[in-house]
Amino acid sequence: MAEHDLMEKLVSLSKRRGFVFQSSEIYGGTGSVWDYGPLGVELKRNVKERWWSRMVHQRDDVEGLDAAILMHPRVWEASGHVEGFTDPLVECKTCKKRFRQDQLPMQACGRKPSKHPGEVDECELGEPRLFNLMFKTFMGPVEGDAATIFLRPETAQGSYVNFLNVQTASRQKVPFGIAQIGKAFRNEITPGNFIFRTREFEQAEMQFFVEPGSDDEWFEYWREERMAWHQSLGIRPERLRFHEHGPDELAHYAKKAVDIEYEFSFGWKELEGIHNRTDFDLARHEEYSGKRLEYIDTGVGKRFRPFVIETAVGVDRTVLVLLADAYHEEEVEGDTRVVLRLHPAVAPIKAAVFPLTKKDGQPEFARKLADELRAASIPSFYDEAGSIGRRYRRQDEAGTPFGITVDGQTAEDSSVTIRDRDTLEQVRVDAGKVRSWLLDRIHG
Ligand code: ATP
Repeated sequence: MAEHDLMEKLVSLSKRRGFVFQSSEIYGGTGSVWDYGPLGVELKRNVKERWWSRMVHQRDDVEGLDAAILMHPRVWEASGHVEGFTDPLVECKTCKKRFRQDQLPMQACGRKPSKHPGEVDECELGEPRLFNLMFKTFMGPVEGDAATIFLRPETAQGSYVNFLNVQTASRQKVPFGIAQIGKAFRNEITPGNFIFRTREFEQAEMQFFVEPGSDDEWFEYWREERMAWHQSLGIRPERLRFHEHGPDELAHYAKKAVDIEYEFSFGWKELEGIHNRTDFDLARHEEYSGKRLEYIDTGVGKRFRPFVIETAVGVDRTVLVLLADAYHEEEVEGDTRVVLRLHPAVAPIKAAVFPLTKKDGQPEFARKLADELRAASIPSFYDEAGSIGRRYRRQDEAGTPFGITVDGQTAEDSSVTIRDRDTLEQVRVDAGKVRSWLLDRIHG
């Protein structure tokens, strides 16, 4: 499928089915900000829950944190963001549009009439200048320099400034990590590609504190572990790869960095970054706060400033990958169906329950079954409207992995059919066993 085709199809499916809407749409929309609808919020929550489960609940060496978005302004001086969190911005003298200088090939003049029909004229660009991506606002009732604070552009700094709080309270020994999921804000010059690059987004970041000297080994461990997580979401492995940063790409704080990239329809792009940040952040916060940020191991009489291995993934970008990877159009019985082949663990609705007809108590039986599944925290949907084929198609588009039909035989032996969204195979299962049958497949 061509590049623009898939993205356009995802935007339209997302709106139609309630995954993602443009923010403030009735006012014409807000630039590159999106709202998650009933299905989207479930998909996104499932991504976050899978991340939290694997990074925090299934381990004894990572602790959770939920730091505030608003932080002391000195944090961003110490982190280097005030000085260096910039992109090179250029403005077109004709159309006045602003572009990122390092992303120019995709951009063309928005106003100048083309001399050659069908061709796009190039912008007349001015000199580049550095543009800081942090959103500024004011804390308290007085506006002015003294009250200026920033919306955080990453969650990581909350973990660094709380390093000792978390370590002391949890009595963790190095190596250990701090995990956070939360909003981040970047005033991107050229956002776009739907929810790939937005100005408000969510990150799931983990900072793993290690003894200097063991950092290379932990870096290798985390890059493999994070790749395994992406594959566990059902993303096609051939569409995932590592991209190691060369010396010119490395951020100022990083000794080593590798991206996990996904092959989008618009090319291979970063989905997650894994960085060896050395002791850069803790050292800078020591310098700016005047507080020591050292780990003291009284058992062996050691004290040192840990190095940090960071894993940083975009939640919204993961949602986009899941939608793009799952989207399929195929012929079924002479019809084209759109199907989202989402892994059952992330699918917003796990099961749809249908009575085949409105006769013989089928609707009552089906409603009761759907209620029982919901009571077991299996998000389920009851639908009796339209032909069974149309009801299946609606659920295929929503990514619902299992369609359960109550039919004439149900009254005789209490069995129902379960249809697999991807293979279209149907099996008969005793209604009393549907719950465990589904749970095995959702969590298995
Ligand atoms: P990029 O090079 O794409 O701007 P980055 O290298 O600045 O990203 P990081 O600071 O490492 O990104 O952030 C970690 C993750 O957060 C990224 O891999 C991406 O998934 C996500 N992310 C970063 N910026 C955005 C954004 N503007 N919109 C959505 N997700 C983002």
